[in-house]
Amino acid sequence: MQSSNAPALRDIVLIGGGHSHAVALRMFAMHRAPGVRLTLICTDTDTPYSGMLPGYIAGHYTHDEVHIDLRRLAEFAGARYFHDEVIGIDRAAQQVLCRHRPPVPYDALSVNIGSTPQLDEVPGAAHYSVPVKPIRQFNERWLALLTRVRAHAGPTTIAIVGGGAGGVEMTLAMQYRLSRELRAMGRRPDELRFHLCSASATLLATHNAAVRAAFMRTLTERGVRVHLNATVTQVRERTLQIASGEFIDVDEVLWVTQAGGAAWLRDTGLALDAAGFIKVRDTLQTETDPAIFAAGDCAAFTARPLEKAGVFAVRMGAPLAHNLHRLLAGETLRRYRPQMRWLALISTGDKHAVASRGRVVYARGDWVWRWKDRVDRRFMRKLSEFPEPMPPSSDSRVPAVALAPEEQTQAISALAMRCGGCGAKVGATVLSRALGRIQPIDLPEVVIGLHAPDDAAVVRVPAGKALVQTVDFFRAFVDDPYIFGRIAANHALGDIFAMGGDAHTATAIATVPPGLESKVEDTLFQMMSGAVDVLNAAGCALVGGHTGEGQELALGFAINGLIDEPLDAVMTKGGLRPGDALILTKPLGTGTLFAAHARLQARGRWIDAALVSMQISNRAAASALRAHGAAACTDVTGFGLLGHLVEMTRAAGVDAEIDLNVLPVLDGAVETAAAGILSSLQPANVRLRRALRNQEAAVRHPHYPLIFDPQTAGGLLAGIPAGQAEATVAELRALGYPSAVCIGRAMPPGTDVESITLR
Ligand SMILES: Cc1cc2nc3c(=O)[nH]c(=O)nc-3n(C[C@H](O)[C@H](O)[C@H](O)COP(=O)(O)OP(=O)(O)OC[C@H]3O[C@@H](n4cnc5c(N)ncnc54)[C@H](O)[C@@H]3O)c2cc1C
Repeated sequence: MQSSNAPALRDIVLIGGGHSHAVALRMFAMHRAPGVRLTLICTDTDTPYSGMLPGYIAGHYTHDEVHIDLRRLAEFAGARYFHDEVIGIDRAAQQVLCRHRPPVPYDALSVNIGSTPQLDEVPGAAHYSVPVKPIRQFNERWLALLTRVRAHAGPTTIAIVGGGAGGVEMTLAMQYRLSRELRAMGRRPDELRFHLCSASATLLATHNAAVRAAFMRTLTERGVRVHLNATVTQVRERTLQIASGEFIDVDEVLWVTQAGGAAWLRDTGLALDAAGFIKVRDTLQTETDPAIFAAGDCAAFTARPLEKAGVFAVRMGAPLAHNLHRLLAGETLRRYRPQMRWLALISTGDKHAVASRGRVVYARGDWVWRWKDRVDRRFMRKLSEFPEPMPPSSDSRVPAVALAPEEQTQAISALAMRCGGCGAKVGATVLSRALGRIQPIDLPEVVIGLHAPDDAAVVRVPAGKALVQTVDFFRAFVDDPYIFGRIAANHALGDIFAMGGDAHTATAIATVPPGLESKVEDTLFQMMSGAVDVLNAAGCALVGGHTGEGQELALGFAINGLIDEPLDAVMTKGGLRPGDALILTKPLGTGTLFAAHARLQARGRWIDAALVSMQISNRAAASALRAHGAAACTDVTGFGLLGHLVEMTRAAGVDAEIDLNVLPVLDGAVETAAAGILSSLQPANVRLRRALRNQEAAVRHPHYPLIFDPQTAGGLLAGIPAGQAEATVAELRALGYPSAVCIGRAMPPGTDVESITLR
């Protein structure tokens, strides 16, 4: 986490990781404003850079070369990254509404979500065509189309609807790529047929005549049939109908026409243009609400209509970043003046491009492609290669935001060293407001809990049950309090499930960094919402807790579970029997991945996947393991796989053998471990290598470092009667543990005190 230690005084929230926000994040990284907390909310961690998209389709770039890694960029900028979909804005409450989390408050807001295809206007288009927009899901759609074309026997006809730069570039890029694909498969490229349909009388209507003529020539040479004045009126299975009444037989339809604004914008009350884009002033503030800005394709610049092009989205990034800061500092906003003419470098798919600017400039050649390639790669480098993280600025105690007098008092208090005489507790009002908004489940056994708070909770233990108790506490390793809350709760519950118990009640202990009361309240609310969502789903009632101020956000739980008497169902570490199959339910690697994340060395999608894995509950897995005869079980956490396995073998007096080849690992963990990026706990865990019988042989195996990797909210490791292993793994996978696998077996004790053999 790269966030500064300065207390949060104001929130800038960025919706969507389009080109403008990517540039703005880079600006924010270079000029950090103390007291300003940044949050980026985006559906896609990998967001495509439009300028290189046709080159990717043509096969000249890899996926990672053309995608901006928003999680890494946000981390570099010190911004919180919320991987979520925005579904609305509550302007009265100044909150962003998300699909999978509580509302996110803002002081200044910016929207950069691109555009959405207007497929509903043409019957059948939504069902039978592949829209290029929204650009975020295009990669999956393109890969699916590629697979279909490869598998299609005989000639394939592809129609592209849209005669702008996007449509023309896509046609030529696809023609180039698919011809090569067929050739590589030993098939003839002339099995491919292309139609390009444009509703207007010319292609590339916003470009000069020389450019238009050059592209007409190229398309004809490449066998593309161009249909002008050809408005598509209907799409049916394998047929396209155009306004003239003509039908074109097709196998695939690609939709690259002008798109509109996202439907949810209509409910925001912001003024929109006819296409549903947000009307903005020349400061990029919306016409309706000065606290809300919009940029890129989703903005309708009312001073002068702008083409929906990445070039404008990119150029808006810097003025947007400055104006967001100026708004919060109470300064006058500056005007964004879009250029009248801009240079477009339009590729023809075959590492050749055309330069177009205004009414006259036209040039073409391989050198234009190389030029474009250099410009695009330089742009991407700025968003993916970062200098060392910025040290907090020396004047970080001086808020760069305008505060009301009452807020200034709170800010001074947050900046001052707390005396601690108050027990560093969070104020009662903040606490009760934050907790009043969360809704823990109620259980009949809870006599006194959060519903009627007192000095302590009073809980009855039902007859015939024994208590299972555990406590866990750790500091936030991710800048998203809601997700952190979910993982902290899930991690704490893991111990109860590993024993074979049912979670019943929990008390929480939390520390929250000081700041304005409203910010502290929201952080606490977000974190506890995440935790309570998980506790509730586990049937566990939150009955009390303690919250203090601390330098870092941290959360822990004391959890009470219940287990039936007599205690036959308890799964202990010592229950491992020689011959038992060792089952691991989740992949390894969270330690190295988050160490790499902190150093900006992990790909955002690896962290996304790790966070998903960390939120998977061990509850269903524990029941399945128990049902299949597990007598021994533990959750794999801080000591890593080896540490927890040694705890089991020691307690049971057995040896074990594990197969490094089959160990499930999270995406990216092998790469980050191989790069020597390991958790700070790793050295302590590595001391247990003395338990290994043949480590010399295994030390070079790429999975070797991961057996020491400390896990947060890791999976269960259990001993199962060998005959049950296959059925158990199948059931676990069906239950939502796709990586569950048998990793080895327990063996009769040898002569060594403890001995684990690696295969
Ligand atoms: C095939 C093709 C080629 C093109 N080539 C060029 C070119 O060479 N040069 C050029 O200048 N322009 C080009 N364009 C146009 C260009 O793609 C767009 O103008 C540009 O992508 C707009 O950028 P943006 O910043 O507005 O948003 P986008 O790049 O569309 O990004 C929007 C972001 O918002 C996120 N998002 C969307 N909805 C939500 C939500 N509800 N909640 C959270 N996040 C959300 C998405 O995940 C995405 O990260 C091309 C377009 C196409 C179709």
